[in-house]
Amino acid sequence: MTVLNKSFNTPYHTAPFSKIKSADYLPAFKKGIENAKAEIDAITANPEDPTFENTIEALDFSGEELDRISSIFFNLNSAETNDEIQKIAQEVSPLLSEFSNDITLNEKLFKRVKAVYDSKSTLDLTTEQETLLDKKYKGFSRNGANLPEDKKEKLRAIDKELSQLKLKFGEHILAETNKFEMLLTNEDDISGLPDGAKEAAKQLAESKDKDGWLITLDYPSYIPFMTYADNRELRKQLSIAFGRKGFQNDELDNQDIVLKIAKLRFDRAQLLGYKSHAHFVLEERMAQTPEKVTSFLNELLDKAKPAAKTEFKKLEDFAKDLDNIDQLQKWDSGYYSEKLKQKLFDLDDEQLKPYFKLENVIDGAFMVANKLFGLQFEEINTIDKYHEDVLTYKVTDSEGELVSIFYADFFPRAGKRNGAWMTSYKPQLIKEGVNERPHVSIVCNFTKPTKSKPSLLTFNEVTTLFHEFGHALHGMLANTTYPSLSGTSVYWDFVELPSQVLENWCYEKEALELFATHYETGEVIPMELIDKIKASSTFHEGMQTLRQISFGLLDMSWHGIDPSEIKDVKTHEVEAFGDTSLYPDVAENCMSTSFSHIFQGGYSSGYYSYKWAEVLDADAFEYFKEEGIFNKEIAHKFKTFVLSQGGTEDPMTLYKKFRGQEPKPEALLRRAGLVK
Ligand SMILES: [Zn+2]
Repeated sequence: MTVLNKSFNTPYHTAPFSKIKSADYLPAFKKGIENAKAEIDAITANPEDPTFENTIEALDFSGEELDRISSIFFNLNSAETNDEIQKIAQEVSPLLSEFSNDITLNEKLFKRVKAVYDSKSTLDLTTEQETLLDKKYKGFSRNGANLPEDKKEKLRAIDKELSQLKLKFGEHILAETNKFEMLLTNEDDISGLPDGAKEAAKQLAESKDKDGWLITLDYPSYIPFMTYADNRELRKQLSIAFGRKGFQNDELDNQDIVLKIAKLRFDRAQLLGYKSHAHFVLEERMAQTPEKVTSFLNELLDKAKPAAKTEFKKLEDFAKDLDNIDQLQKWDSGYYSEKLKQKLFDLDDEQLKPYFKLENVIDGAFMVANKLFGLQFEEINTIDKYHEDVLTYKVTDSEGELVSIFYADFFPRAGKRNGAWMTSYKPQLIKEGVNERPHVSIVCNFTKPTKSKPSLLTFNEVTTLFHEFGHALHGMLANTTYPSLSGTSVYWDFVELPSQVLENWCYEKEALELFATHYETGEVIPMELIDKIKASSTFHEGMQTLRQISFGLLDMSWHGIDPSEIKDVKTHEVEAFGDTSLYPDVAENCMSTSFSHIFQGGYSSGYYSYKWAEVLDADAFEYFKEEGIFNKEIAHKFKTFVLSQGGTEDPMTLYKKFRGQEPKPEALLRRAGLVK
């Protein structure tokens, strides 16, 4: 038996990373699956009549060991992977989908679940229990439990193929990102870059025994170059390299994979009696239908497009005046936007960065959580880490009770995928009267400290940290009985509310004064800079809104229809972007082939939810603003009705309990400066 199969004999039962060997995973998974199967067999073999407790509840608490192994393995496959781990993932994924299909297509089990479901009105269930019952029933019916045998078989085959294709999609993107390098040996070529970015590029070159400056497709390298490098030709090269991931007709190409994924998802939905994949997905969302999503996006498009066009025209004029640019291209967007922003607001990231030393920003997030929810964070070094860069904390409430264990992993590495995310190693749940607290983690790719400077965050990185920390709070403050309803286990178009709402504190004087102090002088960020941050926060909001809408519409274009008609990925994409594009198309580039959110992750038919959640967060934050951003009563309501509730109730109901009314889109448009 591997270390992963035993309950962990560690402080707080945290994952024993240092004791896990790669060779442990496969046997651990096999054993975990075997034990989970035995738990299911015990439910179906129960001679008593099916009840909520002996069937629904027993099912939700089953498979704890397997979940524990899966969390560790897949979290590491994202944050600290290598060829060996990726190979195991390829082997394990089909086993796991086979197992989960075995459950959802287990007729004996479904019979018991259905029996409880059909007698729902006679049972005296709590709201949480009723939600769990619905969720479990749908977990079967939406996975084919009501289908005849031959169709069930077909469904299993589709799911197996889908999970392999999604993994492959992601591996191609990671390989493309790691394989590209732009080595610059002429100092003129890095003109315009801030000192920190120059130094980082030099160190990266040194680390690979090269002379000069090395630029890569990792965000901390890519973004500063696109924003500041004066050499337009090199920006073009880098931008095209970034945009053609999975689109080079080689062994890492994703075009066929994209077409196959879209088609398989459609076939799956049809098999289950839905019109499209989007219809299937949205049944379990706050938005409910593709029509609702499309009209939501188009309504925003109406409001944002005129503003976006005006902004684009101004940017064109500016680039023409400054550098005699005749036609703005995608690789000019970051560069001239930054220059124009500097001109209008005299504010650049380099001015702000000294006030956002990583350690200070982390403390700031902790102070905000303390003022709002009474949480205390204490760094602990008694638990295992999967990499030396990871920070570990014990989180307690105002009474000193354990709330959560918190891992934070901030810097990029070769084995870490791009972006930032929150995840967990252990869910919160209440079993036999014991409230088991969760182990929550955030993973980011922030600017690393250099020999001469600590990690100084861009303002965007600051809001990213608060964003992921907001997700983390949703996980940490969870207070539900059943693990499948706990924390961030909510509808996708509700899950970004806690994360996005927390970003709002980064723009408030009262919050910034707590942590935004100069890393050398200790001086608090000047009021004048705070005013500028606020004034500039809606800069190019129209164009940015248009961009988000374009991704949402692209997503719906792949999933809201029968994709058999789509013969060419690029042609389809250009069409989908028809109403939303401002820049000329770049023939060498394709968004879909590296659109991991919808083809690898779980955002298919769900990209709109970022904007949807913005409506929620703008509306929620207006409530805080009305009463004071650290108002304890509002914070308490937010914790009681949103953060602690997970997915135990319909999200609109929860939101109304917090806010007293439904969210209004006007709050977003007001904050974005798109309406007065
Ligand atoms: Zn998020």
